[in-house]
Amino acid sequence: MTQPPAADRPAPLLGAADIRRLAAELDIRPTKTLGQNFVIDGNTIRRIVGAAQLGEHETVLEVGPGLGSLTLGLLDAAERVVAVEIDPVLAARLPDTVARWRPERAAALDVVLEDALRVTELPHAPTALVANLPYNVAVPVVLNLLERFPSLQRGLVMVQDEVADRLAAPPGSRTYGVPSVKAAWYSSMGKAGMVGMNVFWPAPKIASGLVRFTRREPPVTTATRQEVFAVVDAAFAQRRKTLRAALAGWAGTPVLAEQALRAAGVDPSARGEVLDITAFARIAEARREAADVGAVN
Ligand code: SAM
Repeated sequence: MTQPPAADRPAPLLGAADIRRLAAELDIRPTKTLGQNFVIDGNTIRRIVGAAQLGEHETVLEVGPGLGSLTLGLLDAAERVVAVEIDPVLAARLPDTVARWRPERAAALDVVLEDALRVTELPHAPTALVANLPYNVAVPVVLNLLERFPSLQRGLVMVQDEVADRLAAPPGSRTYGVPSVKAAWYSSMGKAGMVGMNVFWPAPKIASGLVRFTRREPPVTTATRQEVFAVVDAAFAQRRKTLRAALAGWAGTPVLAEQALRAAGVDPSARGEVLDITAFARIAEARREAADVGAVN
């Protein structure tokens, strides 16, 4: 493995040969199930860290540190890194890799062996999420973390390019759907670029995209998040139908759906893909108010 740097050279990042050597030492074969595509290109790491626009005192949550490519870059830019990795072999090796490549930053790293979909406690409250996410669970991971860790104020994630487009899509666009609306409950999301396939080992078959987000307050509503998300799910389960038809099952009948839509100021003949998160919140609220009135009478 390449030697750690002299003080006058920029801190090194893991390259293709380092990644392969580490994988061979650990006797691991990257698995598709865990979305294991490791970044082998230092410029891509620098680009991700730069695009994350981290502040001075950031505690970064990294999901899926893998062999440590991004972790090293993050340790150069953040105050702390909390890395949540599901693979025990990778999680066990990460502190050694950091001790070798960034000995002066080793104390700034915490490794948590956990599934990011289930993690409820972290050793430090994270302020930013920066990750090359496992692609098959990218959307639920982002939504769960935003829900569970209110301290997360911003983030930059690398996901499948198509998913990046969906997360960042505005109402009315072709790619607007459930991920776009639910992500908008917590944050404003924007695309921050594309990444080719050859910066990974193994190379995925599809391009990747970067999404940057900033937390914002959810819409003001008396409906709960779960109630709002239930309307979103119902509206997009049959996205070609009018809302009156698509929400009939959710409301009980098409007439009740129409009542809720009109009370929310939404045209019942519109489709879900034109509504923003605040409109979905108004629909959930209208239905809840109608149900409350029904319960009193
Ligand atoms: N950050 C590394 C990099 O850029 O080279 C690895 C990224 S790789 C795309 C995804 C990583 O997420 C793998 O290390 C994988 O083991 C891990 N992973 C997969 N599913 C996970 C989950 N549910 N929770 C936490 N880590 C997960």
